[in-house]
Amino acid sequence: MKQFLDNLVRYIEPYIVYPDIISTVVDILLLTVIVYFIIKFLIKTTAGRVIRGMVLLFVLTGVTEFCGLTTINWLLESLLSAGLVALIVIFQPEIRRALEKFGHYSWLSVRHTLDTSNAAQITNAISQHCERMSSIKCGSLIVIEGRTRVSSENGIPMDAKISGELLDNIFTVNTPLHDGAVVIRNGRIAEAKSQLPQSNSSAIPSELGMRHRAAIGVTEACDCFSIVVSEETGKISFAEGGTLVRDLDPKKLKSKLLEVLRDREMISKEQAKTLAKSDSEEKEGN
Ligand code: ATP
Ligand code: MG
Repeated sequence: MKQFLDNLVRYIEPYIVYPDIISTVVDILLLTVIVYFIIKFLIKTTAGRVIRGMVLLFVLTGVTEFCGLTTINWLLESLLSAGLVALIVIFQPEIRRALEKFGHYSWLSVRHTLDTSNAAQITNAISQHCERMSSIKCGSLIVIEGRTRVSSENGIPMDAKISGELLDNIFTVNTPLHDGAVVIRNGRIAEAKSQLPQSNSSAIPSELGMRHRAAIGVTEACDCFSIVVSEETGKISFAEGGTLVRDLDPKKLKSKLLEVLRDREMISKEQAKTLAKSDSEEKEGN
């Protein structure tokens, strides 16, 4: 036993005498974990591949400079500067998205508030329109703008009061405005036939096509929310902040719209309560 204790003391003595060793071990372990996660990130993502390439180029430039290989060094230095420009081009969608997001929180952004009748008109028109489009399997895509303009392209400018009938008319197949999205700005239909930014997310189920990708993409890039009806399945979905909530019935869609308008302070809590109450009274009356 004595022999065992002597051995044990001899074994742990250096750690007690030199506590630095313990902190060094902890240091190395932490560094290993950090390096592990960085390597994992660099292996998995496109950004990682680009960064790996840039780091390699950087190291090679340093080595060639050190070894005095002037011509190769000049070539690599030129590649490195071109690489920096290429980085901006490659990450242009991400940079654009980040800047647009930044714009949402800027003091320049304006909050559009809706009066109660306008909010009722929007929620009723959209839910009734979606119900009808869903039953006849006709595609529809509506974006409601938040504090900043959505980055839509090629839209036909309009300035129309929202009604379910007008929305039905816009999305009727083979009519001039049916292809693309309707943008609602300040409580009115501001654009139709608009092209929206598409989402590149690999998390979107493969059965969803361009219409759903646009419905999600616009909410990733801009401060807004969108409603989409599938012409393939007739299902109604809602997107906000890059997340799609699928398969809503018209009633759920309406309460979702009220909830979002309230959360975004486009209507007050009292207005939301009034509208929800009048909605349930209406249903009881029927
Ligand atoms: P659905 O379930 O209705 O078929 P989907 O998600 O499968 O929808 P597609 O079948 O690819 O999508 O739908 C094509 C239609 O989506 C186009 O005809 C057009 O009206 C609309 N669309 C496609 N891309 C965009 C876009 N970037 N912005 C707005 N609308 C778009
Ligand atoms: Mg489709």
